[in-house]
Amino acid sequence: MQVPEFSPSLGFQETAKVLETLAGNWITEGPKTRELEEALATYVGCRRVLMVPNGTQAIFAALKVLGIGPGDEVIVPDFTFFGTVSAVLLTGATPVLVDVDEFDGNISIPSAARSLSAKTKAIVPVHIYGQSCDMAAVRALADRHALRIVEDAAQGMGVTFGERHVGTLGDIGCISFFADKTMTTGEGWALLVDDARLVDECIYFKNQGRLNRGTFVHERIGYNFRISDMQAAVGLAQFSRIESTIERKLEIQRAYVVRLAACPGLRLWGDNGFGRSVPFRVNVLVDDPEGLQAHLKTCGIGTRRFFYPLHMQPALSNTNVVVRERPISSIRLFERGLMLRTGFDLSEGQIDYVCDAIRTFQTGRTMGTVVGAAAQ
Ligand SMILES: *Cc1c(COP(=O)(O)O)cnc(C)c1O
Repeated sequence: MQVPEFSPSLGFQETAKVLETLAGNWITEGPKTRELEEALATYVGCRRVLMVPNGTQAIFAALKVLGIGPGDEVIVPDFTFFGTVSAVLLTGATPVLVDVDEFDGNISIPSAARSLSAKTKAIVPVHIYGQSCDMAAVRALADRHALRIVEDAAQGMGVTFGERHVGTLGDIGCISFFADKTMTTGEGWALLVDDARLVDECIYFKNQGRLNRGTFVHERIGYNFRISDMQAAVGLAQFSRIESTIERKLEIQRAYVVRLAACPGLRLWGDNGFGRSVPFRVNVLVDDPEGLQAHLKTCGIGTRRFFYPLHMQPALSNTNVVVRERPISSIRLFERGLMLRTGFDLSEGQIDYVCDAIRTFQTGRTMGTVVGAAAQ
């Protein structure tokens, strides 16, 4: 049996929407993108959604629009995808890496508070693996120190803090529609903006310094951060079944929880209780994720390790990244975490197969025996 780590769920609806777009003879950013942006704005509850090509650019754009640049410090959690920090560096600002909470992998507010300086201008909470940060605590810290908030809600589609969708609780929020996210446009991200002035700033920024296309008069210097209507067409098809996709992800998580509840030496990551969580993958904490990953690979089962702590990234050693307080939890999470498959088409039989293989390895470990050949 082969159980790949992830595969997106693409069907006839996506094909139909893309063909409709091609037949409409409009392939750059146009009516389909606008339709998707409007549907998303209603869904998340903000004034305006603007599509941009990818996450690094989304976070970069958000920070630039908020006036962050050289001389400013930006608080970034140590446990996130590299793009969160590279976007800060690309603005010329100084990322200040802070630890996360081991309980859910989200930014540690005490660590962030201890890492502030007179130069700190913004904070980038990341709603890691589909669980909301404590946005009330982020907001309180930001208000006390006049910080801008850019939410990296890459994995946050459908995730809430209380009743509010993540990405709408700061100044600008960003949601990913990369291929392995809850909903995809292939590449592509949404900027979530509520402040009318910031909406215009974002449009200038992504549209070559103009509020409208079709004119060659430019009021500002901007980038071309547009997507194509073919991507938006895929997004519209995906969005039409977003709630059933989320329900399926939760069902798969519950199936894993039942099967792995009594598995020795393994703890499942659940729900931190701040709102609705949407599992990015099913995350487990074990003593030897490397060994478990290798064992599962011999069984044809794909998995992923957790994020590698940013402060240990080779690429950051020659940059101006600041670490005022050594992270501990991000290292512990990396050393113990493994992400299991949560595709949308996983069968009960596949989940049984994965869980049996995990149990074989974990039981062997706790009994001090070496697991040799694959389970099947
Ligand atoms: C998927 C993901 C990204 C992806 O960024 P790209 O620039 O689109 O590749 C960024 N941040 C987080 C937390 C992610 O999960």
